Amino acid sequence: MRAPVIHIIGAGMAGLAAAVRLKEAGADIVIHEATAQAGGRCRSYYDATLGITIDNGNHVILSGNHAALDYLQLIGGRDRLRSPESAVFPFVDLASNERWSLRPNDGRLPWWVFAADRRVPGTRAREYFGAAPLMWAGPEKTIADVMSCSGLLYERLWRPLLLAALNTDPAEASARLAAATMRETLAAGGRACRPLIAVEGLSSAFVDPAIRYLEAQGISIQYGRRLRTLGLEQQQVVALDFGDDTVQLTPGDGVILAVPAWVAATLVPGLQTPSEFRSIVNAHFRIAPPSGLAPMTGVINGTVEWIFAFRDRLSITISGADRLLDTPRETLARSLWQEVSVITGLATTLPPWQIIRERRATFAALPGEDAKRPSAVDTALDNLVLAGDWTATGLPATIEGAIRSGNKAAQAVRKKQYGQSRDYDRKTEHRHIIGAAPQADRGRA
Ligand SMILES: Cc1cc2nc3c(=O)[nH]c(=O)nc-3n(C[C@H](O)[C@H](O)[C@H](O)COP(=O)(O)OP(=O)(O)OC[C@H]3O[C@@H](n4cnc5c(N)ncnc54)[C@H](O)[C@@H]3O)c2cc1C
Repeated sequence: MRAPVIHIIGAGMAGLAAAVRLKEAGADIVIHEATAQAGGRCRSYYDATLGITIDNGNHVILSGNHAALDYLQLIGGRDRLRSPESAVFPFVDLASNERWSLRPNDGRLPWWVFAADRRVPGTRAREYFGAAPLMWAGPEKTIADVMSCSGLLYERLWRPLLLAALNTDPAEASARLAAATMRETLAAGGRACRPLIAVEGLSSAFVDPAIRYLEAQGISIQYGRRLRTLGLEQQQVVALDFGDDTVQLTPGDGVILAVPAWVAATLVPGLQTPSEFRSIVNAHFRIAPPSGLAPMTGVINGTVEWIFAFRDRLSITISGADRLLDTPRETLARSLWQEVSVITGLATTLPPWQIIRERRATFAALPGEDAKRPSAVDTALDNLVLAGDWTATGLPATIEGAIRSGNKAAQAVRKKQYGQSRDYDRKTEHRHIIGAAPQADRGRA
């Protein structure tokens, strides 16, 4: 008789996190990925138009994202991320041409709001505390229900930060999700909100090391395996139908379904998931950044929201970008470059460019959509758990949320199938003690 196997469907951040946790705990796993590449919405690829490797979209994690940092530490990807020594966010206002740097102090006591050279120009210290009601807002509240969504401080601080975190217009977004993000980052002090960027590409930090980690343990991802249907009998998954091949499960086998919400909804009968999504637009320009340009610059009063400077390109990000989905690509590239050239001083001649529009980048972080997120563990099927940034993580759709969901799914599937949680917990605990990320990276003030 063979040992029980855990099948992981989907090799995005959630599926990979579940896989490395399970492998670490000694479980037998098989990973099935629909496409020819791992990483899902967080991946790099060779772009033939530009002749360089780029990311599907610029991703930032913050030093308070402890699950993401633990994952990177475990797989060996941590040193692929770069961050400033302290939390510094350079901004430029295209309307007024003002430039400033937001510089939260390291500790939890936010004295930076009292320092004019650390806070947003034109704002007063007491205005910052206007965001405090977020922290006790109920799940049905939008951000606009509990704090002012207008004025200089909102336009120059809260709007850009919350839009980046939630990928949804902050005024209509969930106050509870905003608070969850704030609690673990800005409210935890500058030490928890240093931005970390994968300077050599997302895959080099988040994906390739995970694949190497798994391969060293004899696991290779099975690509081109799109799960079509789940064979079900008496609240159990008994078969996985991949179209040209069906895998029969035996008692003791488990399934982690780590696919996007819209796929999970078609596979699991009766499953409620978020069903409204928001897009993210990225434009990549193949040009060397001018010297002195920060790795990441926030832009106010532009279509461009963030500029990222990589060795061989400038990349820009626009969140909640559904309004741009139908703009002709070249028109968009030209108008975005116009803004970039004003900000950077580079020539107005359009360099080689690429536009990537991720239509369903994240679920819409609205109170109503947040309420639809299912528990990863309490599914109607005894041997199936869910993973993904859209499950009920309490966070917006982020790498941190996806990795936490993968960790939770790994733990839950073992509890469900083998009652081995105690072993699993002990091993996990041990790793936290010997392999934890440096204190500063874990966001403790
Ligand atoms: C442009 C962009 C920018 C972003 N920026 C940030 C950021 O700055 N910071 C941040 O923290 N987060 C950011 N995010 C969000 C982050 O990328 C996601 O939250 C995270 O990658 C989601 O991981 P996941 O594993 O939950 O889902 P996915 O990445 O969607 O992974 C699901 C996997 O399942 C596979 N799959 C689908 N159907 C099947 C099937 N039937 N059978 C087998 N496999 C299947 C898919 O191919 C995919 O590999 C951004 C997202 C985008 C798109």
